[in-house]
Amino acid sequence: MELDLHIHTRYSFDSAMKPAKIIDIAKARGLSGVAITDHNTVEGALETQKIAPPDFVVIIGEEIGTKAGDIIGLFLKEEITDDDPLDVIAKIKSQGGIAILAHPFVQHLSIEDKVAKKLDACEGFNARHTRCKKFEGRCEKRITEFANHYHLPLVAGSDAHFYGEIGNARTKIPASNFDQIKSTIKRGETIITGVGTSSLGLFISGLLKIIRYIINPVPEAYTLAGKRLLQNK
Ligand SMILES: [Zn+2]
Ligand SMILES: [Zn+2]
Repeated sequence: MELDLHIHTRYSFDSAMKPAKIIDIAKARGLSGVAITDHNTVEGALETQKIAPPDFVVIIGEEIGTKAGDIIGLFLKEEITDDDPLDVIAKIKSQGGIAILAHPFVQHLSIEDKVAKKLDACEGFNARHTRCKKFEGRCEKRITEFANHYHLPLVAGSDAHFYGEIGNARTKIPASNFDQIKSTIKRGETIITGVGTSSLGLFISGLLKIIRYIINPVPEAYTLAGKRLLQNK
């Protein structure tokens, strides 16, 4: 199945997407499911899972801001409010979830060894963060070295904040039901693909953070640029 493992809803401070429309669009774009990974909340994920049809997978996730950068917990049951990366990872695992390093090396030059060793996977492709500012170039080579060093499976997500971005990055896994997804990701049996989101989309979502407190609803906008294809195994 093909999943987009990084999507925000209007429960995130920087998105306005509605759960029902996310599901409709994801299905129309051939996705079997999504992970909803709002910033520091699981509310949007819970709502999306509640309204999803039986043939569409919704994984409860949360993107948690930590001192080591954003960490995504998938297969969560409860919201996590910590900001220490080791505490966050421990809480994700205590719920039976998996801990994924989001867009590595975008904000940070390096990841501490003690944090890296506790991760279950890392994003090998994030459609919004294809450039590592600090490395003055694309992130893939650095991420691949990091993932190989720590034997971390790679996953991909669009990091969609607008409807047009849904499915821009995909994680393909040989699973046929919900229960198999977690173990298949942990074994690293993933193929990741994606297209980078344009700087226009990123600019508009930066603006959105400012204007969403003033007007509602917020306009949708997106374009696509630059095809990429990565493979893990
Ligand atoms: Zn992030
Ligand atoms: Zn995100």
